[in-house]
Amino acid sequence: MKVIVLNCGSSSLKYQLFDMPAEQVLAKGLVERIGVTRAGDAPCFHHQRGDAKWEWNWPMTDHRTAVKKMLEVLTGPETGSLKSIAEIQAVGHRVVHGGPRYTRPVLVDSNVVEDIEVYSMYAPLHNPANALGIRVMREVLPSVPNIAVFDTSFHHTLPPQAFLYGLNGEIAGKYGIRRYGFHGLSHQYVSERAAMFLGKPLSSLRLVTCHIGNGTSICAVDGGKSVDISMGMTPLEGVIMGTRSGTIDPSIVELLMEKEKLNFQEIIDLLNRKSGLLGLSGVSSDIRDLEKAAREGHRRAQGALDVHTYQIKKYIGSYIFAMNGVDAIIFTAGIGENSSRCRAEICRHLDFLDTWLDEDKNRNCTGEALINTPDSKIKIAVIPTNEEIMIARATMAWK
Ligand code: AMP
Repeated sequence: MKVIVLNCGSSSLKYQLFDMPAEQVLAKGLVERIGVTRAGDAPCFHHQRGDAKWEWNWPMTDHRTAVKKMLEVLTGPETGSLKSIAEIQAVGHRVVHGGPRYTRPVLVDSNVVEDIEVYSMYAPLHNPANALGIRVMREVLPSVPNIAVFDTSFHHTLPPQAFLYGLNGEIAGKYGIRRYGFHGLSHQYVSERAAMFLGKPLSSLRLVTCHIGNGTSICAVDGGKSVDISMGMTPLEGVIMGTRSGTIDPSIVELLMEKEKLNFQEIIDLLNRKSGLLGLSGVSSDIRDLEKAAREGHRRAQGALDVHTYQIKKYIGSYIFAMNGVDAIIFTAGIGENSSRCRAEICRHLDFLDTWLDEDKNRNCTGEALINTPDSKIKIAVIPTNEEIMIARATMAWK
């Protein structure tokens, strides 16, 4: 059975075509700069089938054009993996915010699309694009079921002490203001893999899973259930990220509005796109650039890296305390999987917990790997995430 998984961003479309239940990736791709590409720009359509890769500069005016082009590519005589689009039996969509209602994947009807649009109030940068992707697929393949899989669902098990903010209860209740948490597909995937990897039932494990990428969240997973998560009502809360500030004192907003004469939209833009590692360093949002700059003596780059690892360390520590211990700390996503420096800084000085990183294993690890010393009390592991396979599995479960 062929299942296509879509992840729509405001100006991008990521896709993977799976043969299920074998979980074989038949093809995948990325369409970038939707609505902004002009002829002559760099390639914006990247497609891969097995080891064969293609890139095109096809200006994409909107998501509808991008989806139609994707289907042409997937059925093309040279690039295709399908004889016809009729082979696609289900579409799985990554949706960032499921609000208070969606605690599990759901078969999409027009009410679901409207709900996703309503929940744009909690995820204004993501949900509108997710809903648009669903609308386009329902138009283009009207007889194929669409399944929405939510990044918030895994965290519906948070206890009240973790999801409530110290706000006026009536106001919070009226607008559904609470911690929802994100990256749920990733935290769930790496938790399940960690249990297999450690050879223990997930129900017996306390884990801290660290999804450290452009967006970053740290999650406390007790017995397979999310019990706390650093991201909040929106993906802006928590540790500093590529361009997002993470948690700041809310009164900073008032000061900036007054002194810098910024309006609300400009504040939101500042906190989401011009802050975090980029804003602190003045160099880049990409950890690779910052690590290089820091090696060359750039002090602000080093300072930004220090804030990043220190904040992650604090979350991990608080979750170990909250769970009364931990069996393993798991690193995943672009930085968590690839930056041995970041992992080493976070895991330095854990000797009070009888926990030690093996520097060689940490530097040389590939794929799923344990990177602690044999006598370390807490296990430390790197587990590459796979959000797409979680969406494909959830989509299959509906067929
Ligand atoms: P993600 O959001 O999970 O795709 O992570 C993206 C981030 O991962 C990039 O902005 C980089 O900072 C980081 N990253 C990706 N590849 C590497 C690498 N080979 N070494 C260090 N950092 C990396």
